[in-house]
Amino acid sequence: MKIPFVSFLPMEKELETGLKSAFGRVLDRSWYIGGEEVASFEKAFAEYCNVEYCVGTGNGLDALILILKALDIGAGDEVIVPSNTYIATALAVTYVGASPVFVEPDIRTFNIEPELIEKAITDRTKAIMPVHLYGQACNMDPILDIAHKHNLYIVEDCAQAHGATYKGKKVGTFGVAAGFSFYPGKNLGALGDAGAVVTNNKEIADKVRALGNYGSDFKYHHIYKGNNSRLDELQAAFLSVKLPHLERMNKERRRIAQMYSEGITNSRIIVPYVMTECIPVWHIYGIRCECRDALENYLNEHNIGTNKHYPIPMHLQDCYKDLKLTRGSYPIAEEISSTELSIPMYYGMTDDQIQYVIETINYFEG
Ligand SMILES: *Cc1c(COP(=O)(O)O)cnc(C)c1O
Repeated sequence: MKIPFVSFLPMEKELETGLKSAFGRVLDRSWYIGGEEVASFEKAFAEYCNVEYCVGTGNGLDALILILKALDIGAGDEVIVPSNTYIATALAVTYVGASPVFVEPDIRTFNIEPELIEKAITDRTKAIMPVHLYGQACNMDPILDIAHKHNLYIVEDCAQAHGATYKGKKVGTFGVAAGFSFYPGKNLGALGDAGAVVTNNKEIADKVRALGNYGSDFKYHHIYKGNNSRLDELQAAFLSVKLPHLERMNKERRRIAQMYSEGITNSRIIVPYVMTECIPVWHIYGIRCECRDALENYLNEHNIGTNKHYPIPMHLQDCYKDLKLTRGSYPIAEEISSTELSIPMYYGMTDDQIQYVIETINYFEG
């Protein structure tokens, strides 16, 4: 048996007719940027997230950048981000000229530890960016309390958590605005790059839309020095085909995760911890193991695909050398980077495949 780390094929087979007819519809209309496909997907995705506004963007990184710009966050400002996340979160902060300030995660959930946030706040702090990593919502109540107490914005990075809930509330509804990615591998993925900003604030929605469209509020009239980051008609049409299946496909991921969590009994392995307040969507199923690299080789030898999220923490990346952080600066992020292993998780995995992954892991002797 050969099990890739991820495969889109089962999902694409099911949706093939719909995706092809979406392509045909856009081609027949011969209209590609800013039209009815984008408008209708934005409306549907806002409804799905239980928010008032959705603005499509070119990708998830731009969604975060456009939110920070719309909030006038820039040079001299600090934004709190988790020390364990995909680098896009920190790069968005850097891109607008502000400084990312890293806060360690709770090693059980991999998500930012609210208790450590307050110590990182200075008089330059403007916002907290919780990342609902691997598909599980952050512990939002204490984060909301801290933000309220210090008058800080919350900007959610929802790139890995489409549909995840905390106390029954969907992610993307907790802060002033939230960024989503529709990168093909995300729980809701386009057939290329795409992203979106969701918010209940009309002013921010309008500003994000203008900033991503050359700073233009109406044709050839420019109120900001904007850039070009728009969701296009074709990707919007594909996303509209996939969105109605998201809940069902997330549910299937939860079934796989439950089989893993109940089935993996090897004492060398720590399976992911789920907070009782959360219903995760399992973008990634990340186990931890002290001999992670040996486990990875062993699984790969047994034809099971794996991945690491993420092998080098952001503070040790070459591009952030200027921050003068060293090994030991963020020990929990470093611990995760050296022990986390992501195992296959995608819609359409068969019971035989899931069982094979479980059994192979249980036979691992380190
Ligand atoms: C994927 C991802 C992004 C960036 O999304 P893109 O669409 O690839 O630009 C941002 N944050 C996190 C946590 C991500 O996983």
